[in-house]
Amino acid sequence: MTDLLVRNVTLPDGRSGQDLLALGGRIAEVGPALQAPAGVPELDGQGQLLAPPFVDAHFHLDATLSGGLPRVNQSGTLLEGIALWGELKPLLTQDALVERALAYCDWAVAKGLLAIRSHVDVCDERLLAVEALLQVRERVKPWLDLQLVAFPQDGLLRAPNALANLKRALDMGIDVVGGIPHFERTMGDGAESVRILCEMAAERGLRVDMHCDESDDPLSRHVETLACETQRLGLHGRVTGSHLTSMHSMDNYYVSKLLPLMREAGLHVVANPLINITLQGRHDTYPKRRGMTRVPELLAAGINVGFGHDCAMDPWYPLGSGDMLEVAQMGLHVAQMTSQAQMRACFDAVTVNSARILGLEGYGLEPGCQADFVLLQAADAIEAIRLRATRLAVVRRGQVIARTPEARAALDLPGRPRSVDWTRQP
Ligand SMILES: [Zn+2]
Repeated sequence: MTDLLVRNVTLPDGRSGQDLLALGGRIAEVGPALQAPAGVPELDGQGQLLAPPFVDAHFHLDATLSGGLPRVNQSGTLLEGIALWGELKPLLTQDALVERALAYCDWAVAKGLLAIRSHVDVCDERLLAVEALLQVRERVKPWLDLQLVAFPQDGLLRAPNALANLKRALDMGIDVVGGIPHFERTMGDGAESVRILCEMAAERGLRVDMHCDESDDPLSRHVETLACETQRLGLHGRVTGSHLTSMHSMDNYYVSKLLPLMREAGLHVVANPLINITLQGRHDTYPKRRGMTRVPELLAAGINVGFGHDCAMDPWYPLGSGDMLEVAQMGLHVAQMTSQAQMRACFDAVTVNSARILGLEGYGLEPGCQADFVLLQAADAIEAIRLRATRLAVVRRGQVIARTPEARAALDLPGRPRSVDWTRQP
């Protein structure tokens, strides 16, 4: 059944008392007191927030849930994490990769996360992870859009066969061209890798998403080359700079020149608050830099910014649960985005902004869009972030695919369900 009438919801723009009618897997109508054809099932929205599904613009599905394999990251640092990933890679099997990725996708769907852009390490000669995640992409398609990025983790020019492997991965059907310019041996090699990868994307008609300037080094300026190559090759709107943490430490004058360049190139930005706040500033004593890129300033400059989850229970990060509201909450805190408009912008960063980064077709709550949405136990986007709201129902193409019972605790507002009957003595 791909028809559904959702009664009495509040939309992210604040309109309340709305119904939404889905027919044939698409949204047919949105408005008050809608009539549905006979036999269409109904879902009572109880006045709660109905949002388009969460979108994760940056993740690593090949490493997820591998935390503790082959041993635990004792120090919790990035360097031990990278060493651990190196130890784990030769031990990976395709079955285990598929199983872990599917387990994470199951968490994601339950949390209303229905689109993920995942980087896939292409530096393993066997391209096991590429094969595994292509398989997973097909398996999860009815429930979740998985977009894969060919990611040369050990450096495009630095690792011997990375360039050849990356091309093989794209030939096999990987969707997006990835890169890691700051990890190349020299600034020159970094810039050269950006040029090669952007040209490859232009030739193949693909999008680009690079791990870019993921350091506290204010002189790591590969984003400049990325914006410049984007302009030169006419890739406007198709290129994303992920992390961009060096921007946090850059000179303000240089940033004032950089932002318009990024805007003109139509560059998208992904910040990964959970990971950036954990891994950056590790060489500092005090004061310790937060290390996340300049999210409010990027948004004010008219640049599209999404938030990514990046890692969950892998060699780099022992926590995470596929909850994009946790990501939004961390981003809000780290960037000090506490005005009403900024808090709503943090919700956009894990929904509409990230959907633009992936270039998702038919994303949104307007008539004609895919009937994909999530009913949250919250009055509005800000409360959704505050409570990391329960996903009462997750809908894909007009079908309810996951439900979670309403939470009763921590909702200390009048008229809300209580966890304890306070009128009775125990
Ligand atoms: Zn990453």
